[in-house]
Amino acid sequence: MFACNMRIVCLVEVVHLNSELQGISGPKRKAVRSTVSIVQKNREAMLMLCTARNKSGNLYKIARNIQRVFGKMVANGMTTLRLKEPMIDLRISNAARSELERLLKAIKLASQGESLLGHGVLSTCEPVKGKVVKKAQTKMEVRSKADYPLTLGFPSSLQQLTCLSSLDVDSNQITTLPPSLCSRNSRLCSTLKSLTLSNNKISYLPADMDHLLELVSLRVNGNRLRMLPQGIGHLRHLKYLLARENSILFLPFSVKKLSLLEIDVAQNEFASIERAATVDRLLSVPTLQDLAGSVLLSERIRLDETNSTKQCQNMMLLARNCAVCAKAVFRSYLRILVEFDLRRISETVIYCDRGWGCNAPFDVFVCSKTCFNLFRL
Ligand SMILES: [Zn+2]
Repeated sequence: MFACNMRIVCLVEVVHLNSELQGISGPKRKAVRSTVSIVQKNREAMLMLCTARNKSGNLYKIARNIQRVFGKMVANGMTTLRLKEPMIDLRISNAARSELERLLKAIKLASQGESLLGHGVLSTCEPVKGKVVKKAQTKMEVRSKADYPLTLGFPSSLQQLTCLSSLDVDSNQITTLPPSLCSRNSRLCSTLKSLTLSNNKISYLPADMDHLLELVSLRVNGNRLRMLPQGIGHLRHLKYLLARENSILFLPFSVKKLSLLEIDVAQNEFASIERAATVDRLLSVPTLQDLAGSVLLSERIRLDETNSTKQCQNMMLLARNCAVCAKAVFRSYLRILVEFDLRRISETVIYCDRGWGCNAPFDVFVCSKTCFNLFRL
């Protein structure tokens, strides 16, 4: 028997190419929730497609029968398999990327006539269970560990969140956030209003968090943050910024632009008044790397694994904006530490009161002596 049972749950649209080519209206086309797996029958690897209506499924030969694999959209959970016999396209969508990649690798091997035994991709020919291919789930509530669907995994229908407005992952063991959370093309950028990440083990928030343009409430209490993203002040709808019990030393200068109902930054490690109001670093001639970084940011070119090294991507995370002219600076800047009265930006202020009132230390970066002279708090 086979130890593994890789069955991909996804949407599949079966397109009959014959009728398409001849302009005849073929069977009604519709993407149906299905499972796709590879099974071994009569010593030959076959593609098995099951749906709620056809639980025993259809079998398709793989060897010498796959005319083409359209694989450009695999990263988005989509692919199309063009078969010779029958002449159909299987248009797969809403699949988990990693599973889809494994499936395509296995299909490649099998179509070259190689055995798939021992590759951990073969499934049994058992009919699919109805609950696996039932109508796409649109809601899931996880209030305790027992609610999480451990055996079936997170429903794939919920992986492409199109209108999520509130995400609450309070009290988990999260250490980092996926970069896709607030990347420019993330759908969350235009839908997410409330983000609660409190009581985790997060040490930094994504630098591009300011892309979450609709965010009204950001709760990051009880983490390991040493700073907040430089651009947090660009979140123009933000009303609640709750970041108590972290290790924050300074607030980014952009916070000055916010107009909040409540800010809670109590129990952090803010630098003391004596250290504030000093210039921390001297300007040096920017390196070519710094200048290149500045151009990339002004041109809004994003670095990722497809176009740069990890080192370059890490460098871009160091970018700060000049408080006067907004130019990106990296290692050559003047840093001014100033105090700022949080009551100027928030109706309610909860701040560690060690006799400093509501004055929190801000760190301000300027790109040049000219901007330094122009800087006003
Ligand atoms: Zn400047």
